[in-house]
Amino acid sequence: MALLKAKIVVVPLGEVDFTIVNRLATEVGPVFDRSVDILKGMKMPEESFNVIRGQYYARVVLSKLERAKANQREKVIAVCEDDLYLPDENYVIGYGDHLPGVAVVSLFQIRQEFYGLPEDESKVYDRLYKEVIHQLGYVFKVNSCRNSRCVHYDTSNMMEIDQKARKLCDICSRQLTGKA
Ligand SMILES: [Zn+2]
Repeated sequence: MALLKAKIVVVPLGEVDFTIVNRLATEVGPVFDRSVDILKGMKMPEESFNVIRGQYYARVVLSKLERAKANQREKVIAVCEDDLYLPDENYVIGYGDHLPGVAVVSLFQIRQEFYGLPEDESKVYDRLYKEVIHQLGYVFKVNSCRNSRCVHYDTSNMMEIDQKARKLCDICSRQLTGKA
């Protein structure tokens, strides 16, 4: 009997628009050929908050998510509205790690109002989607991509995210199917 593929679990961390979460849960499954569940009721972990920076430490968020996993094989993608950071970065939009099989993406830096521009919900979702696919790419052990059109290309701000496509390039897709 073929081993059932592990699920992807979408976790809204704190107050996150449920329309966005639902849409994301529907759209990420086919990309990775997995079924998707939504896990509700998790808050931003208090212990990840850095009072001096006023931001949440992404690595601590990941370890909290790892402990919330129902089983080892499950892959977790969390979405939050709070600003995330890593010690060497002013901020991160997303952060994922294949070893614990978890990733987190923040809407904070991909909202236009952050740059003093009027909000555009459709663009916000598009950016979130791309960043989620990118971070899940890492969770599924797809190597960093050098094709700037590929959704798995490293980007550090919303303008760069807007410039890449929604799809994985052929090289990334092949890595994904090879490891599925
Ligand atoms: Zn690629």
